[in-house]
Amino acid sequence: MTSTHNTVLEPFAPGPVLLLGAPGVGKGTQAKQLMAAFGIPQISTGDLFRAHLKNHTPLGILAEGLMKQGKLVPDDLVNQMVAERLTHPDTHSGYILDGFPRTLAQAEWLDSSLSASNDAVPVVAISISVDDTQLLQRITGRRISPAGRIYNIYSNPPRVPGHCDVDGTLLTQRTDDTEEVFHERMRTFRAQTAPVIDHYRAQGRFEEVDGSLAVEEVTAAIHGTLIRLRAAAQQEKA
Ligand code: AMP
Repeated sequence: MTSTHNTVLEPFAPGPVLLLGAPGVGKGTQAKQLMAAFGIPQISTGDLFRAHLKNHTPLGILAEGLMKQGKLVPDDLVNQMVAERLTHPDTHSGYILDGFPRTLAQAEWLDSSLSASNDAVPVVAISISVDDTQLLQRITGRRISPAGRIYNIYSNPPRVPGHCDVDGTLLTQRTDDTEEVFHERMRTFRAQTAPVIDHYRAQGRFEEVDGSLAVEEVTAAIHGTLIRLRAAAQQEKA
């Protein structure tokens, strides 16, 4: 796996960051880079659902059925889960939301719950874009280690096929990373999530980065964008 910065950059506090984009654009990979660089948590709603599923909670069982069909979990349930996660103290100087919001209703809920809090820091949104034709290969080639390290058998293969470079554990494929489910996930994305990108574009504090470049180049672009957007948001506030 490619790693870039792993030192915590001080005193820059990224605040709430939204990573937006279609399935397979690299949100999870980039969120992990930002987490290492800035010392803020990645909050992936997909990972939270997979953790629920592992623990056989009713939410996990409901999510599993929807995930396998490439459909979204109902907004209220996702919002509640995110609301609970945002109460954890590790979110104080910022966090990266990966895979949330995915509908306009989720975006509106997030906007109003953030603006309701006293020490509100406005979100900055970064959308990662990749040509549709590349996405299928990204999705079907993705392999994940039990610790959440992300590989791709085509573009970022592990040194020993099927095993994590770092701890040698077995890599697995997500059950929704098949070609069939990918097409449904893309339909869901176009219908429900693309309007979320337009929503944040219209609000400002938004930039799009080219996700087709090498992982470290995308990371560098996101770092630069984040610092610029946060500085602009500070000026707006002053
Ligand atoms: P991801 O890991 O982000 O690709 O998410 C995997 C699946 O979890 C999605 O296809 C949805 O079924 C569900 N999911 C993740 N995030 C959300 C969300 N914000 N709203 C609704 N469903 C979600």
